Amino acid sequence: MRERLVVIGNGMAATRLCEELVSHGYAGSITVLGDEPGPAYNRILLSAVLEGTHSLDALTLRDPEWHARHGIDLRLGARVLELDLGRGEVMLVDGTRFGFDKVVLATGAIPTLPPIRGLVGMDGQLHPKVHAFRSLADCLRLMGSVPAAQRAVVVGGGLLGLQVARALSVRGIHTEVVEGAEHLLSRQVDARGGSVLRRSLRKLGTEVYTGTRAVRLTDEGVQLDNGHVLDTDLVVLTAGGRPSTALARAAGLRVRRGIVVDEHLASVTDPRVHAIGDCAEFNERSTGFVAPAWEQAEVLAGILSAGSTLEVPTYAGTRTVARLRATGLDVAVLGDPEKAEGEVVEVTNPVVGSHRKLVVHGGVITAGALVGDLSRIGLITQFYDRGTVLGEQEPGVAHGGAARGRTGDAARRRREVCACAGCDRGCAPRLPLRGGSQGAHPRHHRLRRVHVGRRAPRGHRRGRRHVTAVSEGFPRCYKRGTQREHEIPRFAHRG
Ligand SMILES: Cc1cc2nc3c(=O)[nH]c(=O)nc-3n(C[C@H](O)[C@H](O)[C@H](O)COP(=O)(O)OP(=O)(O)OC[C@H]3O[C@@H](n4cnc5c(N)ncnc54)[C@H](O)[C@@H]3O)c2cc1C
Repeated sequence: MRERLVVIGNGMAATRLCEELVSHGYAGSITVLGDEPGPAYNRILLSAVLEGTHSLDALTLRDPEWHARHGIDLRLGARVLELDLGRGEVMLVDGTRFGFDKVVLATGAIPTLPPIRGLVGMDGQLHPKVHAFRSLADCLRLMGSVPAAQRAVVVGGGLLGLQVARALSVRGIHTEVVEGAEHLLSRQVDARGGSVLRRSLRKLGTEVYTGTRAVRLTDEGVQLDNGHVLDTDLVVLTAGGRPSTALARAAGLRVRRGIVVDEHLASVTDPRVHAIGDCAEFNERSTGFVAPAWEQAEVLAGILSAGSTLEVPTYAGTRTVARLRATGLDVAVLGDPEKAEGEVVEVTNPVVGSHRKLVVHGGVITAGALVGDLSRIGLITQFYDRGTVLGEQEPGVAHGGAARGRTGDAARRRREVCACAGCDRGCAPRLPLRGGSQGAHPRHHRLRRVHVGRRAPRGHRRGRRHVTAVSEGFPRCYKRGTQREHEIPRFAHRG
């Protein structure tokens, strides 16, 4: 009998898992149970849709026809209520049961409600002014409220909060951000980086309140713990989210913050159960970014397809590169710069609004944070990603120091990389060349080679070989001098 695989969740990790299972030629039957009513979509572009830079159509990852074509039984609007390990079944809210031999939990994360009085009414419903921002439904509801709104308060000054704040502000809404920590992006950048960001936001017209908490929502507005009241038409909650683990917990699986998995991405309690993406916890860490979710999906597809072969892949963790996706705000975070061990190479320029910090251990970049100036992100990501051992001067060079990247072995060996969020070297060669599929990669990944040759594009030095790519509409020269054309990765269409 064919192995029966049931995947719970139809989000970014589950979709990548299906794609990889198809490409591995997985021999079992696949059923995907997703509680959202529509096809899988690219969650990381929701704020771009809110901002108006991407259309709703651009979000779809794989539509139901794709699943049908590959023999995958996709059920939409199918919320799983129970995972019954004893009977080897999952049960939907309507009582439908599906038997499984293996099950994958890809249930993502859920937003948490901050302790603000008045958020929820006596009827248990959110106050009409209050919005979460996690799903397409949340995004559509918020977009529906935007035309009638003039003022908004975003609760939470993390990556998501800043994206939403910029999106609202670009849409002409006077937006204020409230963050309980002493500075913005407190999990990713230090106080200097936070204050550069705050200044940039202020210049863009968004006021920021840090070190203070929203405590109450009244008819007058959002009341802060310092007594201030912010008049508002909208309150968007972006502070806090946690792995969605209720099914696993109720089934008796080991759960800490996330569902605890081993190097085979299997539950440490029951090897028939796997977990990937935001709901999983590996090595005492749950991640919350798309790069690890995708890498886990790829590794798990290899594991599930390995059958009885001895070469079963294992997962060892993912290096993350997170990018803030918001017009006028440039932030990239590599790993965990606030916790990583090593020496810190840091440059802050409050005049131009940039802050760059690299953590270097044994000559290798182990983490970094760049605010306001991402001109070197491609190079830095590549060094970080490959664990390149840098020469003494190179951390400074990577910051854009005097040698301008022309010294050192590592700089000479550099090649083009995609620096988009959730995109690493493993993903770069698969980028669609032009136009692309509405598949695995969001539109911003569609790099387009526009110039290869000896003539310099406008603004670049003449007489050298130049390679220019357009990403998100901005031309960038990735490489000068030594690169030969055949070294440039070919971006193949991912069908
Ligand atoms: C607005 C926003 C912007 C983001 N921006 C970035 C970014 O720029 N870069 C980045 O790296 N990451 C970003 N993230 C995080 C990124 O989206 C997640 O890391 C990624 O989606 C994780 O994929 P996943 O499949 O684990 O979870 P999800 O994509 O959330 O999918 C989980 C799915 O499971 C479904 N589900 C849950 N419980 C059940 C159940 N019981 N039965 C059936 N279905 C269920 C959910 O409804 C959901 O559809 C962003 C997240 C948000 C919300």
